[in-house]
Amino acid sequence: MISKVYKEMLNGKSVIRQLSEFATARGAEIGYENVFDYSLGNPSVPVPSGFNDTIKKLIDELSPMALHGYSQSLGIPAVREKIANSLNRRFGMDYTADHIFMTSGAAGAIAHAVRCVTEPGDEVLTFAPYFPEYNPYINLTGAVLKIVPPNTKDFQINFEAFSEMLSEKVMAVLINTPNNPSGIAYSEETIKKLSEILTEKSKEYGHEIYIISDEPYREILFDNKELIYVSKYYDYTLSCYSYSKSLSVPGERIGYVAINPKCPFAKEMVVMCGQISRGIGHNCPSSIIQLAVAETCDLTADLSVYETNMNLIYDELIDLGFTVVRPGGTFYIFPKALEDDAKVFCEKALKYDLILVPADSFGCPGYFRMAYCIDTEKVKRSLVALRKFVETEYPNR
Ligand code: PLP
Repeated sequence: MISKVYKEMLNGKSVIRQLSEFATARGAEIGYENVFDYSLGNPSVPVPSGFNDTIKKLIDELSPMALHGYSQSLGIPAVREKIANSLNRRFGMDYTADHIFMTSGAAGAIAHAVRCVTEPGDEVLTFAPYFPEYNPYINLTGAVLKIVPPNTKDFQINFEAFSEMLSEKVMAVLINTPNNPSGIAYSEETIKKLSEILTEKSKEYGHEIYIISDEPYREILFDNKELIYVSKYYDYTLSCYSYSKSLSVPGERIGYVAINPKCPFAKEMVVMCGQISRGIGHNCPSSIIQLAVAETCDLTADLSVYETNMNLIYDELIDLGFTVVRPGGTFYIFPKALEDDAKVFCEKALKYDLILVPADSFGCPGYFRMAYCIDTEKVKRSLVALRKFVETEYPNR
């Protein structure tokens, strides 16, 4: 007997991965430089030199045990303290090391956060368009993910639909701003309104409704937009962070959960995370990488290329007649397809070696995602292909 749950998951292969595999196969035929692969959100910029220098220095100066030994189960105390201090300095919070739990990226952070605040059968709401990996992240904990339909006008929260779905069974709301796939950053007004509704409903239902704030794109903001730190607006917030995109180190698998100190049992929840780790087999991320991010947590890679790419693509999409909301951050853009079925639209684009991802699995049919974490030179060449595709296939758009 093998597990039915996981066996059934084999039938639901990720569309993004399939398209990425197609791009690799096509690249072997015509040269990868000629495939305009907008499928995967794999950061393309180099790590900051400070990160590499720190690793070298750590290797030169620390003992093998300190570098490569097991860390404490909640993370290295000095690392947690440095991260707490950095968050306090930047966002005016009051974290101590005891509010921080080190994880393997945002995925690890969400795995712990959800288990901290839900029991099997509880509901977690998230907002379309959403990151499809939320399905396994949440549903495999035993909690049930429910999707609030999108507000396609500006991709802020659809509060009408949200209020209807916010039943007594909902224990947590999972938000992601700036957002994968829409690229939209929630406004301060949106976060305030969300907090007000959750405060009111928590009182009415007699239990807390937590925000799990998934923030891997927190540092990638455009047009000098101010960063809205969600936890500042709502005490019952578990912030899930990852250095994958900010330091451009997704393969290093490093991030944390930061639990708002005003949240009752905040410190207990961090200790509980240590117990959750025992159950899910995720024990303490790599020591050397924890030490490296502690030294570099106020740095980012040079993320400016993402804004350059966004501007080029956005202007061209508008010029071609697409309906698209200008991204506030990330490295994603989310236009409406030029025909109702975005899968058919993206299929046609393949003829032009454009790899676009239909948004059905993001809970927003009729749209598609472009992950523009690629070289600007390639973006420019891809726009020639995009124009040819659109003008040939949709002359009367
Ligand atoms: N959440 C969102 C919205 C993401 O886009 C990603 C990765 O692309 C993750 C979580 C997982 O991040 P990590 O790779 O740091 O675990």
